[in-house]
Amino acid sequence: MASTTETQYPTLNEDLKVNVAIIGGGITGISSAYMLNKEGINTAIIEAERIFQGTTGHMTAKITSQHGPIVK
Ligand SMILES: Cc1cc2nc3c(=O)[nH]c(=O)nc-3n(C[C@H](O)[C@H](O)[C@H](O)COP(=O)(O)OP(=O)(O)OC[C@H]3O[C@@H](n4cnc5c(N)ncnc54)[C@H](O)[C@@H]3O)c2cc1C
Repeated sequence: MASTTETQYPTLNEDLKVNVAIIGGGITGISSAYMLNKEGINTAIIEAERIFQGTTGHMTAKITSQHGPIVK
């Protein structure tokens, strides 16, 4: 967040026709849009604030499975 340029996407001021409309540009919405786009599905992300700057932008970015400690 501190080292990347802030995104500036235009406000949606007109009707848009897409196959999939995703509400929310966090990791869930962006990942879904990425996968859908890769399959050639016309997708739009509607974000109320700024892309990736909700909870996603403030997580610690660790990857774990089930958050369970592995005891050896
Ligand atoms: C302190 C903290 C640390 C974390 N650390 C980790 C970690 O290390 N590893 C991990 O895997 N997970 C972590 N998590 C959990 C992880 O951050 C969340 O599970 C994940 O970011 C949720 O992503 P999301 O896209 O579902 O939601 P969000 O990132 O919240 O995105 C939702 C977006 O939708 C937008 N929105 C909401 N309503 C509307 C509307 N009506 N119209 C348009 N836009 C709307 C919001 O503005 C927001 O940008 C952490 C969470 C917290 C709070």
